[in-house]
Amino acid sequence: MGETTIATRAHAVEARGLTKTYGGKTKALQGVSFDVEAGRVFALLGPNGAGKSTTVKILTTLARPDSGTATVAGHDVLREPNHVRRAIGCVGQKSAVDLEATGLENLVLQGQLFGMSGAEARRRGAELLERFNLAHVAKRVTHTYSGGMQRKLDVAMGLMHRPSVLFLDEPTTGLDPEARADLWREVAHLAGDDGLTVLLTTHYLEEADRLADRIAIVDHGRVVAEGTSDELKGGLRGDAVQIELDIEVPEARVRASLARLDGQLHDVKVNGRALHARVDNGAKALPAMLAALDGAGIGVVSVKMARPTLDDVYLHHTGHTLTEAEQGNAR
Ligand code: ADP
Ligand code: MG
Repeated sequence: MGETTIATRAHAVEARGLTKTYGGKTKALQGVSFDVEAGRVFALLGPNGAGKSTTVKILTTLARPDSGTATVAGHDVLREPNHVRRAIGCVGQKSAVDLEATGLENLVLQGQLFGMSGAEARRRGAELLERFNLAHVAKRVTHTYSGGMQRKLDVAMGLMHRPSVLFLDEPTTGLDPEARADLWREVAHLAGDDGLTVLLTTHYLEEADRLADRIAIVDHGRVVAEGTSDELKGGLRGDAVQIELDIEVPEARVRASLARLDGQLHDVKVNGRALHARVDNGAKALPAMLAALDGAGIGVVSVKMARPTLDDVYLHHTGHTLTEAEQGNAR
């Protein structure tokens, strides 16, 4: 045996206590910490304004934190930004595709920006076009591409220089469901086959659920929960109940009507006409809830009961559902 090798499985990304305030008052990040294991897909899940893009900008050296530290691929983002930049691929929320150029031209230019020769860039570009099922449109100007094709080209551009960590900021926002599913398949392969680490941000629960090995739920510049989808859901007991009321009723009145069920209900939340709660035993608690509402003269239109979803996890940790936060009526 010769040299010893370091056996620790390195984290591809480590963020510690990142804070960032814009313009002296917008607290975009209030202490964000998380680790991403190499070769995994990690999702930052949260609504608009949660601080996802700010986190990505700091990790990709495009912004400086006010405090906190971070390493990416083993390099400190503040002290070794050039090492970080060489190790990462970035696909921003806005497309970087030049719509006047062909798919191959976009890739070749990107490769040359990273110091590849023309021949090398063409070879790598052709390989990626093949990989993303875009070979048949390689020589077409990209404004003729569908949204999904443009997005895949964006991802391919991020991979030209063979990074070890790929950042995808809201990769499927604005795509139709079919294009979204197609991109999910591609991203899943990237981590699985190529050993790449992927850090993605999303406000789609389903995207985080399907794609990510681990999820950090971000709300108002903080990570409020972190784990696998199953761990996060498993942390919540019982069944999630959602009751649609026939008219908007003040939260206090709804709560008062349910007062005698107190011990059985968790995370009770009224938003507009939607009443959310978790119950230890749905089959037992639900009839009692409906009777209590009826007794208080509160009409019910529909009832849904299910195992807790990531949205229930989100509600549990933040006091509002992600769907409501997205609609901006959470507070
Ligand atoms: P997300 O990507 O989760 O939607 P962002 O990180 O873009 O969230 O934004 C977090 C908060 O910081 C928001 O309130 C946003 O308005 C604010 N913000 C982001 N970038 C800037 C900027 N360059 N100047 C001022 N405020 C900003
Ligand atoms: Mg964003």
